[in-house]
Amino acid sequence: MLDNRIRYLERIVLGRETTDGVGVRLTRVLTRELQARLDPFLMLDAFRTARAEDYQGGFPDHPHRGFETVTYMIAGQMRHHDSGGNQGLIGPGGAQWMVAGSGLIHSEFPEQSQGLMEGFQLWLNLPAKDKMISPAYRDIPAEAIPQCVLGNGVMLRVIAGECAGVQGAVRRPVTEPLLVDVHLPAGAALNLPLPVGFNAFLYVYRGELVMAGGVVPDRAMGILSNEGGTLEVVAPQGARAIVVAARPLGEPIAQHGPFVMNTPQQIEEALADYRAGEFDGARVGAL
Ligand code: MN
Repeated sequence: MLDNRIRYLERIVLGRETTDGVGVRLTRVLTRELQARLDPFLMLDAFRTARAEDYQGGFPDHPHRGFETVTYMIAGQMRHHDSGGNQGLIGPGGAQWMVAGSGLIHSEFPEQSQGLMEGFQLWLNLPAKDKMISPAYRDIPAEAIPQCVLGNGVMLRVIAGECAGVQGAVRRPVTEPLLVDVHLPAGAALNLPLPVGFNAFLYVYRGELVMAGGVVPDRAMGILSNEGGTLEVVAPQGARAIVVAARPLGEPIAQHGPFVMNTPQQIEEALADYRAGEFDGARVGAL
């Protein structure tokens, strides 16, 4: 179903400066207070720093269960290892899609000791029926991400979902997430139909975007109204942003750090399984 009405800017979110892993400085843009509003998305971290001491510590071995993690790099390189013996290097413009499912252990380390490190990590919830599926992951190098340039010079890089007739690199069932990196030259407008009823937001990481209801500045999230279907933005000085949307699950969320389940009892089970070593050596298949 298409709805040609415009989605307006409901709210601007600047996020909270914090550290995670071993002293990695980042901005937690999508915090727990927004999980219900932006269901099925659980977290968005934005990192952008040229200070090595802000990222060098990385994220040593840690577990996940019950959701998916998506890493998208703008600048710099991140090395990933998991309990299934897989490893991969995510470079500029590349992504990694990981389904934690029943559980795995992995590490994420910057593979550089100087220069800009910039990118995002997005957490996407799994439906209750899929929380214990087998873990899987896929590295998506920059050249494997489908992109298109529209007539007015706007470039779309479609990491997941389908957009402007372009099939993204990843398709996921149930929530059918859309993740698109949009680059707008100065003065360009973008008109992007989004599925009706999907929760949606954008995060500007260069320039600013003007849309119905306001202006989203650099390094800010704009939550889009659920009325209407179409996103319309203009970039007076040029801008880059990620546009994110998915079908809400409407299921209870129980989170304890890197475990996201539906009930407190399932969290207890996850902790018990982790302490019992059941995540060690967990196999991680191909997505
Ligand atoms: Mn992780």
